[in-house]
Amino acid sequence: MTLPEEAQDIKDIRSSIDEVDAEIMRLLAERKAYSLRIAKEKGRMDRPSRDQTREEDLIAERIAAGHDHDLDTGLVVKLWRAIVDDSVRLQQEALGRTDLGERGISVAIQGIEGSYSHMATTQFFAAKGIDVSVIRTATFSTAIEAVQNGDAEAAVLPIENTTSGAISEVYDLLLDSGLHLAGDIKFRVRHCLLGLEGASISDLRKVYCHPQASAQCSEFLATLQDCEIVHFSDTALSGKMISDLNDPTVGAVASEEAARLFGLQVMKTGVANRDENYTRFVVVTPDPVEIPDGVPAKTSIVMAVGNHPGALMDALALFRDGQINLVKLESRPIPHNPREELFYVDFAGNAADPAVSSVLDALTREARFLKVLGSYPSRDLRPNEAPEGAGTVEPVGREALVVPNFIKESPSGYKLGSRGHKEENTVVEVGGARFGGEDLVMIAGPCAVESWDQVIETARVVRDAGATVLRGGCFKPRTSPYSFQGLGYEGLDMLAEAGKTFGLPIITEVISPKDVDEVAKKADILQIGTRNMQNFSLLSAVGRTHRPVMLKRGMSSSLDELLQAAEYILAEGNQQVMLCERGIRTFETSTRNTLDLSAVPVLRSRTHLPIVVDPSHAAGTRDLVSPMALAAQAIGTHGIMVEIHPNPDEALSDGPQSLYLDQFDALMGALGIPRKREIVGA
Ligand code: PEP
Ligand code: MN
Repeated sequence: MTLPEEAQDIKDIRSSIDEVDAEIMRLLAERKAYSLRIAKEKGRMDRPSRDQTREEDLIAERIAAGHDHDLDTGLVVKLWRAIVDDSVRLQQEALGRTDLGERGISVAIQGIEGSYSHMATTQFFAAKGIDVSVIRTATFSTAIEAVQNGDAEAAVLPIENTTSGAISEVYDLLLDSGLHLAGDIKFRVRHCLLGLEGASISDLRKVYCHPQASAQCSEFLATLQDCEIVHFSDTALSGKMISDLNDPTVGAVASEEAARLFGLQVMKTGVANRDENYTRFVVVTPDPVEIPDGVPAKTSIVMAVGNHPGALMDALALFRDGQINLVKLESRPIPHNPREELFYVDFAGNAADPAVSSVLDALTREARFLKVLGSYPSRDLRPNEAPEGAGTVEPVGREALVVPNFIKESPSGYKLGSRGHKEENTVVEVGGARFGGEDLVMIAGPCAVESWDQVIETARVVRDAGATVLRGGCFKPRTSPYSFQGLGYEGLDMLAEAGKTFGLPIITEVISPKDVDEVAKKADILQIGTRNMQNFSLLSAVGRTHRPVMLKRGMSSSLDELLQAAEYILAEGNQQVMLCERGIRTFETSTRNTLDLSAVPVLRSRTHLPIVVDPSHAAGTRDLVSPMALAAQAIGTHGIMVEIHPNPDEALSDGPQSLYLDQFDALMGALGIPRKREIVGA
């Protein structure tokens, strides 16, 4: 058979392509051989199989070379990433390791060599056959940051001492770090008095000592005559410093190891009040650690319980009922919220174990806040708590890091918020208001805080008319960037001051994750607006706070989507969530939005969380606000939020839907809510 001339040409060209491809194959095989030779070299020199810088440089060079040949950059990047990844995989296989974590781990600590943190770290990882490269940082928070930004794979931090008690700074840092506990170490601390070679104790006029160490050694230090005890932030560093000072009248309290490292004399060993002096350190990692079956484990959680009598006992009873042994209970005040306490609880057991996870599950129904800091293998358990195989602690491998499964997703995509999870209503208590209880709670205030006079005048009427929460926007999520954006923190100060003046808790919207902690210092309730209902990083951020959150329904979101959004907050630990129906977008143009009142009974059947209706943003017109508020009350909402203004015609935002103050007073009467005082001037 003969082909037409054109077809013959195509055939020739194709066979040339085949030849080129064959050559590419041969070259790939050649490249692979080189790659294996490098693996051998790396193994010999004990270098890691991955070299990120080299990989990035290589790709950059290939992109440049691709330009010379007029090749598409996208293709070049894709191709060489695939080649490099294959080569890394090959090298790791050749080196007999798929997980670099098993070979060595970088660990951040506060302190230098010779510090107790350093010694505890070395001891912990050596027992697991893991090499450590220690990253020394100046403070506990810089050690945590090193893990957060990927400079270290773990951090080791002291958390309590058997003599001097809890190291509260570390507790507070852990809560907000987003890191997980992966282990703990009970380290025996042996404080020694160190001085220069040849010096004697009676020569000492000054002794440098860490405040913790000074508390632990108070009895011995009190026996030193004519000697000043100077607090110093770092035990090992104090050893280094007196060695540098080279003054026989200066001593330090530090470890024997520090004496050896800095060429000092141990003047006296065992200077602590108690011979058995232990510091417990925790190992923190970016991800939770998996615990092999049969290995005794400990779990650490942080929780906040209600304010009613017996609330803590009810929470702890769940552990008793689940036959779980508590090994530690520590309480810490919540920063900026001094009336409430956080409880740090350690118990024997693994959160992944069904018996434990069902107790944690039940605890989410009792607690206002619950966060699992981590489950980790622990040798620090008494024998009756440890099943067979105790002591055979497996190495902490990166490969083994998984998410604990105590929060399992329900088929509808939410669980903690569901009625199935918790039958009785959650009651969110703020000041005198109880959302989710029997009585209707009223929230009122201006759309936006505009001035001191405006907010104080409004707040007085809110209080006098019998409402119990003051609202006011400070960060306004406006549709147009040219509209009034709110007074920000200045407005928040005014709102907080007005709330204090009239004894009203305040609610305000937060629109950015970076502002959450700052706003939570002053706001009693954090509001998430309709435009942010699915801003997941914002939801997670408010879920880490200890303030109740009111989540507004997205203007085009279904109720299931609202419940799933609430789940983001609950899953972070914060159980004080309220849901707000504020109108959805429909084809109807007579109202700004359509108030979906059926949301109230539907939500009440699906969730135990309190429900608030906002008729103002739904209506968009003040005359519709009162009738819809009455309808919301009739259909069983737990709370109503309305916008009011002393002078709506001059309001900087949402004037047309804001009630005049006397209209608001009339609405409160119609809702049957008693006045606190006669309204002056209304
Ligand atoms: C508000 O309540 O201030 C507000 C902006 O409402 P929404 O997010 O429902 O529009
Ligand atoms: Mn508004």
